[in-house]
Amino acid sequence: MAGKILIVDDVATNRIVLKVKLAAAFYETIQATDGAGAIQLARDLRPAMVLLDVELPDMSGIEVCRILKSDPVTRDIPVVMITAFRDATRKMEALEAGAEEVFWKPLDELVLLARLRSLIRARETAEQLGLRDGTYRELGFAESASEYDGQALVGLVTGRVETALCWKREIQPYLGDRMLVLDRDAVLGKIDKHAVPDVFVLAADIDGRGDGLRLMSELRSRPETRHSAICVVLPENAGDTPAMALDLGASDLIEANADPAEMALRIRTQIARKRQSDRLRASLENGLRLAMVDPLTGLYNRRYALPHLARMGERVRDTGRQCAVMVLDLDRFKLINDTHGHASGDAVLIDIASRLTSNLRAVDLIARIGGEEFLVALPDTTPEAAHATAERLRRVVSDNPVVLPKGRGTIEVTLSIGLTVASAATLASRRVEDLIGLADQALLDSKSEGRNQVTVAQSAA
Ligand code: GH3
Ligand code: MG
Ligand code: MG
Repeated sequence: MAGKILIVDDVATNRIVLKVKLAAAFYETIQATDGAGAIQLARDLRPAMVLLDVELPDMSGIEVCRILKSDPVTRDIPVVMITAFRDATRKMEALEAGAEEVFWKPLDELVLLARLRSLIRARETAEQLGLRDGTYRELGFAESASEYDGQALVGLVTGRVETALCWKREIQPYLGDRMLVLDRDAVLGKIDKHAVPDVFVLAADIDGRGDGLRLMSELRSRPETRHSAICVVLPENAGDTPAMALDLGASDLIEANADPAEMALRIRTQIARKRQSDRLRASLENGLRLAMVDPLTGLYNRRYALPHLARMGERVRDTGRQCAVMVLDLDRFKLINDTHGHASGDAVLIDIASRLTSNLRAVDLIARIGGEEFLVALPDTTPEAAHATAERLRRVVSDNPVVLPKGRGTIEVTLSIGLTVASAATLASRRVEDLIGLADQALLDSKSEGRNQVTVAQSAA
């Protein structure tokens, strides 16, 4: 079971009732009887969740929540507050203090458990993302996120346009973000990639009971809206809808008769969460990209090239069509560096990389596998076509000198190529890595025969 749940209540019977309910759902619990004890336990044990009574002997539960949410050690622990008083002002105070949810007594057990599940799930996802982001940062990959996010986009989805317009009017004074009224068809149709709501506020009942939840599942399954937050607005006497909504992936629940200020606050919280996870995801994707791509030339690196080549080899075995592997090495590149300087050498590498790219198909693999050494792999080819391609690449380099930026002159460059072509029969007895070795051997022959030429490996068949 994922972590323990901290129950904070000064009344022993309340603690026992909660403990029994949670134990029935296989949650382990720990208990505190006052605010100071709760804060200490939260810091020491970092529970998966805190269930916090608003009325405590030594301080208000809201104050406890505020302290937990301002301490980096405990900030990410979800807090659900429980109170006997149906007081909207108190509820707002608790939400503003950072509580994820406020429940009135008597507790609806189903909704409470569904809420715990959804909060624990959300936290685990955030932690996994955060962890990986941390790893990338250690490797020096992550870029700093921009602090200014601009306006968010909130999509309001209801059965009746008037209802959505009414929400919009009421929430507007509390929310600086853009709100868009959408009907079901607009949501189900193609959403413009640049106008995907960060948060959907979705009525649980649109045309019929609970059909908003089906729409939510649809949104969750689509790539464009998968990461949007979804707040489900519950009708009065919603029955089992709240628990279902949470289990189906609702980010938050809002009661239809909630204060506009509360609605706005809940939406703002979801916007902030969405942005944080967007940032983490972006740095993750960026990290992945940097792990595969050579920063100087933008070509794939060796780490990417080898598994890609292995997949190409499998295709040869599956389809029976041959593939070609070549290794290209710039001639006397050290001399270029020594004569024109390292920066000019870099400019040459960039220019050659772009010539190779624009002279090959999109399906061909081009990678920089060493300082001035490139790997090119052509799927679905013949020995004749591969040889012609290698010759073409040799010529696009030797025929025109590299023009250095800022009028620093031109440099004559040539390269040598070793080529091998593999069939399913070749690959029956060889791994694709061996093809690079064969191409390398052929490359050495090109070098020793005077450079600026293509040599085909002899022993490939
Ligand atoms: P050969 O024709 O036999 O291949 O001779 P070469 O000079 O090209 O080969 P060698 O392996 O002796 O030298 C390669 C040079 O490439 C040495 C190294 O300083 C340079 N080099 C490697 N990576 C980079 C880079 O990123 N930028 C620059 N400017 N030079 C690089
Ligand atoms: Mg060289
Ligand atoms: Mg070399």
